[in-house]
Amino acid sequence: MHVLEVKLVTKRFNDHGRPAVDAVSFRVEPGEIFGLLGPSGCGKTTTLRIIAGFERPDGGIVAIRGRNVTGLPPEKRKVGFVFQDYALFPHLSVIRNVMFAMRSVGAAQREQYARAFLCMVGLTDVDHRMPDQLSGGQQQRVALARALAAQPQLLLMDEPFSNLDAGLRDVTRREVRSLLKAQGLNAILVTHDQEEALSFCDRLAVMNQGRIEQVGTPEEVYHHPGTPFVAQFLGRANLLSGTANGDSAHTELGEIAIRPCVSGQVLLSLRPEHLSLVATDRAEGSGEITAREFRGHDVTYRVQYAGKAYIAHTEYTHSFFPGQLVHLVPREPAVVLRNTSAPLQTEETDSDQN
Ligand code: ATP
Repeated sequence: MHVLEVKLVTKRFNDHGRPAVDAVSFRVEPGEIFGLLGPSGCGKTTTLRIIAGFERPDGGIVAIRGRNVTGLPPEKRKVGFVFQDYALFPHLSVIRNVMFAMRSVGAAQREQYARAFLCMVGLTDVDHRMPDQLSGGQQQRVALARALAAQPQLLLMDEPFSNLDAGLRDVTRREVRSLLKAQGLNAILVTHDQEEALSFCDRLAVMNQGRIEQVGTPEEVYHHPGTPFVAQFLGRANLLSGTANGDSAHTELGEIAIRPCVSGQVLLSLRPEHLSLVATDRAEGSGEITAREFRGHDVTYRVQYAGKAYIAHTEYTHSFFPGQLVHLVPREPAVVLRNTSAPLQTEETDSDQN
């Protein structure tokens, strides 16, 4: 049975314009950490608030462990949450805030356990402070410790690491993920940070303008983006149009391999790390490097080719310089994206029909 099923959930805040959440559907499987990833304003928080019961959808269903909870208040849903505004109890010290969440643990052990959760989020010397004596990042970590201490079967987290500095964010993220995994807890993480979603989640939904554009594992959405938006939101992408004929397509870069096999007009995505640069001294058929950005482990180049700008990453061992002429050579097949104007015929579809 699914831990959570969100089915065609829609929410409008006004009668005009597009819905904040538009027919959103996805499922969370047992033990899974699921991500809602997208730019600011795409409807992630509203979706999470609908799952928590703080917002009523205009249409659609939320079911937790097979039970329709769409009409139930938050306290009847048995979910835990960490929202951006922390919501700590202002009259309780840090340790008491966390202990409050542990009513199932015996009184004798409660304080010791609460300390262990605080330690896990990197807080060791603030146990007896009141929430208003903490920084925003510390309050966020107390809220996280308190939510984890309650060990809910489904934990909803809205940008829970956003106020932590980069080093602390990485460590806390890793620790929280291992704890969730060790306890077999399910969680939904809302974030606009691609790297955070890719490293923290088992699967994720990429949202844009109230809709889900793609659901998949981090590898699937990164390496096989379904739409131009997903390709460009998850890292950088070169978009090319072309005419496909099976496993290759004729494009502005010449005949290149593609996947999956299709026929007709296509829009393709090629990651910068899948594009090699080969030095040449012939102007014909080559591009010119217009910018070089050293990034430590690799180097990003901008290449102007046939009136269009491309991005390529190379290892730091390969060095090119602005003004140099290069050929652009794909190292991997380009990925065929949806949403092109002409209908695509996939070879799988064709053979299914035969
Ligand atoms: P962020 O990452 O900035 O938090 P988000 O993806 O979580 O963004 P939401 O907060 O869900 O986006 O907002 C989606 C849309 O709904 C936005 O256009 C927002 O302005 C609008 N919205 C959200 N809550 C309300 C509200 N209570 N009343 C009116 N409009 C709202």
